[in-house]
Amino acid sequence: MPAGGEQDVLVIGAGFSGLYALHALRDRLGLSVTVLEAADGVGGTWHWNRYPGARCDSESHSYCYAFSEELWREWEWTERYPGHEEIRRYLNWVADRLDLRRDIRLGRRVTEARWDEAAGLWRVATEQGERHAARFLIAAVGCLSSANIPAIEGLESFQGRVAHTGEWPREGVELAGRRVGLIGTGSTGIQAAPVIAEQAAHLTVFQRTPNYSVPARNAPLSPEFRQWVRENRAEILRVMHATPNGHPFAARDQSALEVEPAEREALYEAAWARGGMQFRATFRDILTDKAANDTASDFIRRKIREIVQDPETARKLTPTDHPYAAKRPPIDSGYFETFNRPNVTLVDLREDPIERITPRGVRTRSGEHALDVLVFATGFDALTGPLLRLNLTGREGLTLAEAWREGPRSWLGLAVPGFPNLFTVTGPGSPSVLTNMPVAIEQHVEWIERCLREMRARGLDRIEARAEAAARWGAEVNAAAQATLLPMAASSWYLGANVPGKPRVFMPYAGGMARYRALCEEVAAKGYEGFALARSARIDAGRGVVPNPAHGPDAA
Ligand code: NAP
Repeated sequence: MPAGGEQDVLVIGAGFSGLYALHALRDRLGLSVTVLEAADGVGGTWHWNRYPGARCDSESHSYCYAFSEELWREWEWTERYPGHEEIRRYLNWVADRLDLRRDIRLGRRVTEARWDEAAGLWRVATEQGERHAARFLIAAVGCLSSANIPAIEGLESFQGRVAHTGEWPREGVELAGRRVGLIGTGSTGIQAAPVIAEQAAHLTVFQRTPNYSVPARNAPLSPEFRQWVRENRAEILRVMHATPNGHPFAARDQSALEVEPAEREALYEAAWARGGMQFRATFRDILTDKAANDTASDFIRRKIREIVQDPETARKLTPTDHPYAAKRPPIDSGYFETFNRPNVTLVDLREDPIERITPRGVRTRSGEHALDVLVFATGFDALTGPLLRLNLTGREGLTLAEAWREGPRSWLGLAVPGFPNLFTVTGPGSPSVLTNMPVAIEQHVEWIERCLREMRARGLDRIEARAEAAARWGAEVNAAAQATLLPMAASSWYLGANVPGKPRVFMPYAGGMARYRALCEEVAAKGYEGFALARSARIDAGRGVVPNPAHGPDAA
């Protein structure tokens, strides 16, 4: 086995989180850092999600690193919502611009990580047979990186091509002239369907739960808008850091119920015309008051009926079992219009369930749908999945799978009791997927950076979340969710409901990014409340993180 060197920090994952963690801890803190990345390129989620129509739902000027004014000014986005190719170009450019590649090992899938208490090290193994050791382990594995392919009987017998959107082949999938089946109508399926329909001979969409969607209104960015972004960086960042979800817009400070119906309709029409996630911000109580939400949900249902020409198809596409935005709200480019095309069929799996997959296609109760390609847009084992598949073993042989048998337990979504010196970037229990991700990622990485800096200043090299802090935080995460309508969507992946056997626990923190940031600051200011900090014999032997003058400016 080739032996990897002993590092101050090992980072798993080279997406937005891992790249920034490497930069922050290596270049600002002076630590020795290695990033292990399973893929053969950087980009994380954007390395894997290359499906037709893959595009970010956050606006480009807010979906990028904000920590560096230089990076912000040097990169020019071309469209309102960046496509997957453009985001990959951006992250590759950042990797070059910050000279990150020399510390990134591509093609290294972590299969196991074990805390060695005696040595005070994480020992990490990769599928490629390498062994690494590091004082601190940072899981920067993303929230949506463990693809979920449902175990539908007969899948292995299908003779056509099968692809999951989250593991889309680099070389693409030939769709032209083919009969394509698409299972799943979440954000991904809703982005993919219109693009697949344009290429395929026929598209059959298999829908289990109808979904709300609002037009994205994607378009090239005008020179005036780019200029505005350049000139208003401070204000844009101020808004992003002040809002609950890290987007560059705030919700109107008005209840949907305190305006006259005609005015409310006009405001929804304007929001529909503007497009995007901002629709959710039309009123402040869309996510907290069911009656207020009904006004938004009804508006979208009416739009579906207006757009979709066949009333029966419109009926099937109309969501009725959950409030708008209780599941992650998709935005689209012509999704409902797609069902007006002659080459598109909708199969409502609630009325006509899948019986099995056959060599020729998908058989539902009403008959067989012949297919050449079957696309799974069936989502992910979200938040906990990517961490669990690292096979982490903490103190006293405790595995993460055991620790989380009844659902994830963490302190602030950053650290897990029993797992010393492990940090989870945007882990379960943090705002993560309820926010514009780069905002949450930067906050976590900067908090970890500060924590390691302050530990070093205090001569400490061991940190572990306390069980009582995690228990308290679990209750707070649950309470924050209960204060919203989010738990009303029974089939939501926020609750783990999309993966059979997964504990039903609302996983992300719904109390808002701004409040969460303040809580994290408070914890740090109180000397890392809820954490047990210690100094190991390593430090006195001169082998710890503290005396590390060999690296960087901050290490002296
Ligand atoms: P998802 O939201 O979990 O949707 C999965 C879809 O597959 C749902 O319609 C689900 O139906 C269906 N499904 C799952 N298992 C099924 C089965 N056995 N039979 C039939 N249908 C089944 O996954 P996603 O669309 O990939 O999105 C996941 C998240 O990724 C999003 O919510 C978002 O956070 C992120 N995302 C972001 C972007 C972006 O920013 N550009 C784009 C895409 C995705 P049910 O609803 O009935 O479970």
